[in-house]
Amino acid sequence: MKPRVLVTREISPEALTRLKQHCTVDSNQQDAPVSPRQLLLRLKGKSGLVSGPTDQITEAVLAKNPQLKIVCNVAVGYNNLDIAAATKHGVMMTNTPGVLDDTTADLTWALILSAARGLSNADRTVRAGRWKRWRVMDFLGQDVYGKTIGICGFGRIGRGVARRAMGFGMKVLYASRSRATGAIEQEFRASYVDKQTLLRESDVVTLHLPLFPETRHYIGAKELSLMKPSAILVNTARGPIVDERALVSALRRGRIFAAGIDVYEKEPALAPGLASLPNVVLTPHIGSGTIETRLKMSNMAVTNCIAGLTGQRPPNLLNPVLEVS
Ligand code: NAP
Repeated sequence: MKPRVLVTREISPEALTRLKQHCTVDSNQQDAPVSPRQLLLRLKGKSGLVSGPTDQITEAVLAKNPQLKIVCNVAVGYNNLDIAAATKHGVMMTNTPGVLDDTTADLTWALILSAARGLSNADRTVRAGRWKRWRVMDFLGQDVYGKTIGICGFGRIGRGVARRAMGFGMKVLYASRSRATGAIEQEFRASYVDKQTLLRESDVVTLHLPLFPETRHYIGAKELSLMKPSAILVNTARGPIVDERALVSALRRGRIFAAGIDVYEKEPALAPGLASLPNVVLTPHIGSGTIETRLKMSNMAVTNCIAGLTGQRPPNLLNPVLEVS
């Protein structure tokens, strides 16, 4: 008998067809959100789960589903998965690293340039017919070329952002949990600094850390107060890494110049006041949102799922201490 798998969010039809060749699939291609209660109901009897970043796979979910063997997140971030609990329950968990690095680095750069030049506000003004004449001192932004960029979290995506910054003639600073090798620092012409130095010296601060308990509110009122008044903050990592209320206050008071935000503390809700600020560019969590990349992510999650349910080691296992049986 084929193993049974639940797919909680819409994935690419090609990937779904491949999954169906190996498994009996209950899929939510209509993409109506699956509530925690529905998740528990639909998980009954399933040995595989293909999940999205909005599904919380907690110890309670795992404890109620002892038949579950593998959870495959269609995302590189895995703050919605309790890896420690999964390891305890012998459940494999996987993510989709690598295939979305360039796509997310590109979106980061789109936000850097949009925030620096106030593109959202300029676009809204033109569309609303409020642009009456050209003026020397109107719609003034910040230069990016030749400035200093501070990258927090110097992993796959952080380095992708650094590579692009080299083309903009920027000085690259980074703060991260561990220091990169000399060869990597040379390759990206990047200097390792502490977080405070990065915040004080950067014209653009961009976040590429995973969301862990210790990175929650990594940027709050104190950090924002260290940044230059001309600086730009970009977050394409995870919403709770930034204290969104503190960010609204800093943007409103002109404490920093602008922000580009793709991820939010309580998605899809926004902190009060954020949407009405002229100096912020907001996108709806589309860091990896290109046709090619979402296809690759769907395929990667399905490959992990098929491997895990056919006795092979999933290529992107997050709890590698598990023995695959
Ligand atoms: P990655 O390769 O694992 O890089 C993360 C970097 O952050 C690593 O250099 C890591 O250091 C560092 N780090 C971890 N904990 C830290 C801490 N407490 N303080 C400082 N640095 C720390 O991950 P990635 O693939 O670049 O992805 C980064 C994040 O982007 C993901 O976790 C995901 O949440 C987010 N993301 C968002 C979107 C979107 O749609 N907006 C798309 C893709 C990814 P070590 O080298 O020591 O591990």
